[in-house]
Amino acid sequence: MRKIVLGIETSCDDTSIGILAQDNGKTEVLAHKTFGQEEILKTWGGVVPEIAARNHLQKLVPLLRSTTEKAKIELSDVDLIGVTAVPGLLGPLLTGLNAAKTMAMIAQKPIMPVNHLYAHLEAIHLTEEVKYPYLGLLISGGHSIFFLVESSQDFQVLGSTIDDAAGEAFDKGGKLMGLGYPAGKIIDDIAKDGNSQAFEFPIGLKSSADCRLSFSGLKTSMRVFLEKNPSIANDHSSDEFKDLCASYQNAIVSALKLKTRYAYKKIVELGFPKDLPLIVGGGVACNSAIRKALMQTYKNVKFVDPKYCADNGAMIANYALINSDKAIPFPECLDLDARGRFIDKKEFSGKTSQSK
Ligand code: ADP
Ligand code: MG
Repeated sequence: MRKIVLGIETSCDDTSIGILAQDNGKTEVLAHKTFGQEEILKTWGGVVPEIAARNHLQKLVPLLRSTTEKAKIELSDVDLIGVTAVPGLLGPLLTGLNAAKTMAMIAQKPIMPVNHLYAHLEAIHLTEEVKYPYLGLLISGGHSIFFLVESSQDFQVLGSTIDDAAGEAFDKGGKLMGLGYPAGKIIDDIAKDGNSQAFEFPIGLKSSADCRLSFSGLKTSMRVFLEKNPSIANDHSSDEFKDLCASYQNAIVSALKLKTRYAYKKIVELGFPKDLPLIVGGGVACNSAIRKALMQTYKNVKFVDPKYCADNGAMIANYALINSDKAIPFPECLDLDARGRFIDKKEFSGKTSQSK
């Protein structure tokens, strides 16, 4: 029987809805639309939670209309609603959750509260056949975490960043260099013509012999570099500037490559085979240099399709579909709450009475 799942993503600055259909075990993305707030948030140089929440509120209804139209379905055709419930900015999360509850109320359908981080990695199933267990590397604007993934529910943190995320390193470094927001893709593009060995930038926690990451020192070193070489960022088309982007990016690539080695070491210590698949997801997984370096080093690596890497509703619908046996039926789903912060150890049942 054909099953239709609608996924809503509003955890940060992207308003996104994805609609999937599953028929005879085959999953198809019927429609997938995102409204990015980058243009609006550019003015502020980053995400302002209150403004992001208001934008979600404005965009959700037109987005829902155009996504259902594209998928050629009515709300009453939806069997399950998936919505990001943790982690994220609380205002934006609650906007999506309330939209999900309203739809649940109209259509009398269950809701699956989705952990956004797990959904990023599990988006691999939209395009690839991957079996559990696998080593997951989530690199996004807000998180950088190595997970041991034993099932769609069973995620163990092996190591994460102790300060900035990889995406923040790109965005904050880019801001210092006078690039637009978000800077990840801009740096990636400029770096293609640069020499990644021209300047030396530090690898955070290089000697820690574990898979924790750190990127805040890298950002500081960019600030210090620009103080010493103030003219280099004046001309974004100069060879020197291309070298700067390539060298800065290379520090992030090298850190991820090095720390992946320690993540594998930890996996072996935990009794798992050393050739587990490595799955890389999150917005930063679009980066061409990271893809190239990890593919050269690990033959068993698979990347989430770039169109499902950054925040999107299809990955939320996909996670809800895979875990539909855990969905909260109507009307109990109307009690669902959101939680801003991700806490390790599967504590989050989705049914909490307080939000933090
Ligand atoms: P979050 O879920 O934390 O909001 P996303 O998964 O949406 O983050 O990813 C957004 C991040 O991805 C931003 O920091 C952006 O700069 C980064 N990003 C997008 N494309 C690239 C790229 N090609 N290279 C590096 N970073 C990128
Ligand atoms: Mg994300």
